[in-house]
Amino acid sequence: MEDIVYKGKIVHGNTTVLATVTISNGIITGVYGPLHSVQGQVELDFTEENKYVLIPGVIDIHAHLMGLKYSYKEDGESGLSAAGSGGIVVVVDSPNTLPQVKSVSVLEEKLKSYVRENAPEYYCYAGVPDSVEEAWMLAKHCRVLGFEVIPEDLENIDMISNIAKIVASTGKIIVFNSAQMRSSEERCEAGFRWIDRSIKVEREYIKRVLEITEDTGVRVHFTHMTCRSGVLLAKIGGATVDTSPHYLLLDCDHEKSMKCLAKVDPPLRPEDIVEGLVEALIEGWIDAITSNHTPHSVDEKSLEFNKCPPGIPGLETLIPLMWTFVEYGVISIKEFVNLTSRGPAEILGLKGYGSITPGSPASLTIINIGEEFTINPAEFKSKAKYSPFKGLRLKGKPSLTIVKGNIVFSEDELNCI
Ligand SMILES: [Zn+2]
Repeated sequence: MEDIVYKGKIVHGNTTVLATVTISNGIITGVYGPLHSVQGQVELDFTEENKYVLIPGVIDIHAHLMGLKYSYKEDGESGLSAAGSGGIVVVVDSPNTLPQVKSVSVLEEKLKSYVRENAPEYYCYAGVPDSVEEAWMLAKHCRVLGFEVIPEDLENIDMISNIAKIVASTGKIIVFNSAQMRSSEERCEAGFRWIDRSIKVEREYIKRVLEITEDTGVRVHFTHMTCRSGVLLAKIGGATVDTSPHYLLLDCDHEKSMKCLAKVDPPLRPEDIVEGLVEALIEGWIDAITSNHTPHSVDEKSLEFNKCPPGIPGLETLIPLMWTFVEYGVISIKEFVNLTSRGPAEILGLKGYGSITPGSPASLTIINIGEEFTINPAEFKSKAKYSPFKGLRLKGKPSLTIVKGNIVFSEDELNCI
């Protein structure tokens, strides 16, 4: 008897096929034809329900899950529930909470509420620590998949070079985050933040990073890229890149009209830059799509535009927003899987993830591609119950999330947990 038997549509290359998938002890034990006879303790039979499809579990390699003194914005329970209900099986957290996660002691404190049973797998990047010894200890920690470097860290070039060598020896990655780049004092006028935080400074940051890390052998990743020219620069330099749905679907006019609800870092770009980024997506330059989930309290987001913090929740909208590109024929299902699961797994070095293959970890997501639903932030598991995408009618709602053979989330109507 298997632990879980799924019967229904699965993603197969550029299409979907009916199949039977068996799971035991956290591993996919077999993929068979739809008529294969097998029993499971949990039987998920969707052969009649044409609307569901099983996809490799979504891996989000850049989210801000907060915690510690920012637990009022998000904590382990709310953040990982949001990831699970968003169809995400592995989430990688940024170090920028309060205090920043750049020592093993702070990391261990945070892990107390972020490593949970029956929840998506939690990993993080460490911030740049004060000493080489601390960098070594962080680099060796099993929950740390790399380091995240922000522009001000580049002032300490020696430390960055040391970290690059340390990380190169462990096979992990350095994530470079250009969010705070700006060319001058910011005017912070809704609709115009992109002028001071321009794509030119984004490109200069990329060039500088590539110079610093050249010859160190480290794997470099640039997160939340906003423009095609930056993407190409990074890719030609041998790095990997991600972007987020809001950079592909919103522009600076949304910032102008929605104010803080669409205030993010880096800021939303003019329409022609957004079109260029979508072209880069279609051309296959982008390796991963991340939520860049950055929750703040409703009170904080209600402050005046120049005082309210940048960032929006994204864990629970990632899949449906990206499924829109499949629905409208912009990218194929195979490309969707590459962007949300296979590509992220390769960047992180997570073996076996990103496919529905016997022997792989049974971390899988079932999504509803047959019915539209309305994005309703009031239903978010995240503490940040707002979204610039509120009210949108989309397909691709995550319906059930399996993490290493455990069902960590299922829609009420499926009644599986
Ligand atoms: Zn971020």
